[in-house]
Amino acid sequence: MVREFIQTLGRRAAWARWRYRRAVIVAFIVAVSLCAIFPPAMAQIMTADHHLRAQPENLSWGWIPTDKPPVLIIQSGDTVRIDTISHHGSTQDEDPVVFLGGFGVQPEEILQDVRDFWASKPGRPREGRTGAHVLTGPIAIMGAEPGDMLEIQILEVSSRVPYGFNSAGARSGALGDSYPGWRAGDPGADISGTSRTIVRTAISDGREFALVGDGVRVPLAPFMGIMAIAPQAPTVGQPGVTVAGVQSSRPPGVYGGNLDIKLLTAGATLYLPIFREGALFYVGDPHGVQGDGEVSGTALEQSLTGVFRFVLHKAAAPAAPRAETATHYIAVGIDIDLDRALRKAVMEVVDFLVEEKALAPREAFTLASLAVDFTIAEAVNETQVVAASIPKTLFVE
Ligand SMILES: [Zn+2]
Repeated sequence: MVREFIQTLGRRAAWARWRYRRAVIVAFIVAVSLCAIFPPAMAQIMTADHHLRAQPENLSWGWIPTDKPPVLIIQSGDTVRIDTISHHGSTQDEDPVVFLGGFGVQPEEILQDVRDFWASKPGRPREGRTGAHVLTGPIAIMGAEPGDMLEIQILEVSSRVPYGFNSAGARSGALGDSYPGWRAGDPGADISGTSRTIVRTAISDGREFALVGDGVRVPLAPFMGIMAIAPQAPTVGQPGVTVAGVQSSRPPGVYGGNLDIKLLTAGATLYLPIFREGALFYVGDPHGVQGDGEVSGTALEQSLTGVFRFVLHKAAAPAAPRAETATHYIAVGIDIDLDRALRKAVMEVVDFLVEEKALAPREAFTLASLAVDFTIAEAVNETQVVAASIPKTLFVE
């Protein structure tokens, strides 16, 4: 009896071991298959307090609403995973399966969020919504009031699909007639045919790359082109406002928006002034990678997901967006004129150094000239963005 019982136990143990081994083998096969579809660099590893999905009711198209009821309400300090979708593939007339299929994208590579948003397009207002972007939000932060500052810690950004798009036509971006530097008679680039190009991504040596032409690969550095706070009171005549109260998502401004600052990858922090109760934060225009300037008019437009922590600072609104990375403080100048955007960025750097580092204004201006790099974050979205990078190593305790 006892022996039988022991034998039974033994059989059970053997069976349990086999089931365990089988589970491990199945998990391994599933993981390998998933890796084939979604390589490891695209894995979403971070957990968050909330998950805001890119479902139609959570999305706005082409504008930054000032009074849309929040789709998520959080406490200061909370983390949120936010899914975004690119407008490339989700906003054209043709069904995404047909449209993306024309570029060789398989149906199983198309996000359900993209299909659902596309199906929700009819009935969405477009008047004044002149931006292309699809934005996820808004998120309200409890207790946020006009005059406060929102700190947005970017904790993780990763791709959702192994491809993206770029548009590069004969007269797109900085070569087009909507670029302020354009002059009558300027030639375009020697490019014919459709301007939109699919760019596939691949993993090599554990890193994710965009494949652009034979023997050329660009390491991905994903970031959100748009991180915005609901603007104060969009007024006709302001950049991107043709209908009262309707702020197009195209031009960035003091509310952040389409800043396209490529430094705002995982590990960076963005600071925005708050104009509305709850702050009302939106995010979108996901970019797999982009060079300073975004000169063709678009980056690698690729659906991304990100994890963010939101921290409310009372009565601390900055005059313009500010940011920081592990190595630099970033000041920003925004204007419809690139020359003036640089001037504003210089003023912002001087103000930052005086306010935060207790330098005299003359010392601050000298330091700006000796050690601060001013780069064109983007020059193709109606208003232009100059980002100034101030090395943290300048400041010895
Ligand atoms: Zn973009």
